[in-house]
Amino acid sequence: MAPIFAQVVVLSAMLGLLTACNDVQTRPQINIEGKTMGTFYSVKISGEIAQSPQQLQQEVDALLEQANDDISTYRKTSVLSRFNQYRGTQPQPIPQGMADIILQAQRIGRDTQGAMNITVGPLVNLWGFGPEKQPINIPSQAQIDGALKQVGLQHLKLISDNHGEWLQKDLPDLYVDLSTMGEGYGVDQLVNLMMRKGITNYLVSVGGAVSTRGVNGQGQPWRVAIQQPTDKENAVQALVDLQGYSISTSGSYRNYFELKGQRYSHVLDPVTGRPINHKLVSATVIATSALEADGWDTGLMVLGTEKALKLAEEKGLAVYLITKTDKGFSAVMTPQFKAFLLPNQH
Ligand code: FAD
Repeated sequence: MAPIFAQVVVLSAMLGLLTACNDVQTRPQINIEGKTMGTFYSVKISGEIAQSPQQLQQEVDALLEQANDDISTYRKTSVLSRFNQYRGTQPQPIPQGMADIILQAQRIGRDTQGAMNITVGPLVNLWGFGPEKQPINIPSQAQIDGALKQVGLQHLKLISDNHGEWLQKDLPDLYVDLSTMGEGYGVDQLVNLMMRKGITNYLVSVGGAVSTRGVNGQGQPWRVAIQQPTDKENAVQALVDLQGYSISTSGSYRNYFELKGQRYSHVLDPVTGRPINHKLVSATVIATSALEADGWDTGLMVLGTEKALKLAEEKGLAVYLITKTDKGFSAVMTPQFKAFLLPNQH
């Protein structure tokens, strides 16, 4: 068993490279970077700000720390971990932000007919992609069937009343995993911070989720790269200008383990209970919020190229799919995605 845990950095790793260019710097650019959610974040701002970068970084870190305290399954004391550890079925109080994630997850879960499924936690842990260790052997069908009995969005209820937001499960062993949307949530938190501060020229990213607005230090629109689905970190597949929107990519080529020559992706099919095993290797979505983009990309990854494209067209989503072929890779996109491509990319 050779566990491989590179990040699905897809977009964010490319940003420094692509925003540097040869152009002359026309305005100051502030770059803040750090670690969160088992990956990296980046905040780039062009123009003056009313505080020092160090002060801003403290605020950024505090926001992302709060997100970890709320929704990390890697922290035993987070609100989400305590909900997962709770063995009763009474509604439990949850913060507003977590309720927002779950509401969006339920919508996308319905639209993908359960392909995007935040109750997939028992399977994630069984296959060793969660906070627990990698499996030494591939799980047996009996183990998979056992875990599948604990999976199902219908077992999770979000309640909103005068006293706040509540989450209720009707299966004591239900295990909610918000990892798939956490990066997008983090990006939306950073976007809100920029808005509160009146900052209008920024690029913020957490892992493979990115949002941009305005222009960079050269006075040019921020450019974001979709990386080719190879192990080479800097191979560019396409370049987009987000125009104030957010982008997120889910891929099966960076986070996986290998056993006897077979790759096992961290994206799991909630129907079979197994890692996806088709030719779609990456799904990129552009949406008004990073949370939405981050939820859809995983759902589309599970569905595979044909069903994903059909659903994206039906829903009018901006989607870019890369599929492995005998000769290499082929890419398809919806017209809505095409509108974000930089010139000469069509
Ligand atoms: P995505 O494709 O967006 O999501 C894949 C992940 O979603 C899988 O790894 C699995 O957890 C889950 N998933 C799989 N199949 C499905 C499905 N069908 N439907 C819904 N979800 C599915 N990692 C660490 O190693 N250490 C940490 O300390 C750590 N802390 C974290 C804290 C937070 C708040 C969050 C959100 C994540 C954290 N992670 C941590 C997880 C790590 O960053 C994940 O690899 C990442 O969140 C997965 O996102 P992705 O973009 O790589 O893949």
